[in-house]
Amino acid sequence: CGIVGYIGFREAYPILIKGLHRLEYRGYDSAGVAIINSENNLSIYKAKGRVQDLEEFAKDKDLSGTIGIAHTRWATHGEPSNANAHPHYSQSESLALIHNGIIENYAVLKAELKAKGYTFQSNTDTEVLVQLIEYIKKLNDCDLFTAVQLSLNQVIGAYAIAVLEKGNPDQIIAARKSSPLVVGVGEGEFFLASDASPIIEFTNKVIYLDDEEIVVIKRNEEPKVVTISNVRKTHKIAELEMN
Ligand code: GLU
Repeated sequence: CGIVGYIGFREAYPILIKGLHRLEYRGYDSAGVAIINSENNLSIYKAKGRVQDLEEFAKDKDLSGTIGIAHTRWATHGEPSNANAHPHYSQSESLALIHNGIIENYAVLKAELKAKGYTFQSNTDTEVLVQLIEYIKKLNDCDLFTAVQLSLNQVIGAYAIAVLEKGNPDQIIAARKSSPLVVGVGEGEFFLASDASPIIEFTNKVIYLDDEEIVVIKRNEEPKVVTISNVRKTHKIAELEMN
């Protein structure tokens, strides 16, 4: 299972797909991408099977856009299927989220969200998190970062996540706890991945996130790292050996 993300000046899709191929060795049963195009549409394409099956499915679609996230899934909750593949939309389809790990308390959260009128398209633990983020964002009328932060305080379990927001083509929010996540820092572009293998051909500068850290990755700004308990962190940029 794996995560890849890109924001910058290049087309995101080819970089995301290449990154997913580099992470294939980790094992997976389905794959998917979410991309925001120049009209600010947030599209999700996903398929059960190989990364190649995703590419086949997506080949006639609008894959344009310079910001995107991509995922390979190793099912823990819900069988391998197109519906259970990531990314998952929130109810209003304004958010798209990918997740590696397990939300242990998803059943309780799901019951609470259902009681508030949320409906679910998948049997995954992951979809609960994206719905919770949307619910909390609306409830508090806050920005996406705050909604992610508040939501992660309600989550028990392991996660590496990345979230995109429709109408916000300049920002990826990501976070991790007990699942790996690395940020690649290029010149005017940033990468996100489960390990450095999708990043290394583009930059050797990386930030390793620690547990319970959230990173806000914006175009042309240094990534900002804040813990789920709202402590600002400054990480040294590490240098990968390029060979
Ligand atoms: N628990 C999530 C699911 O079953 C994520 C699995 C993964 O790490 O790929 O969809």
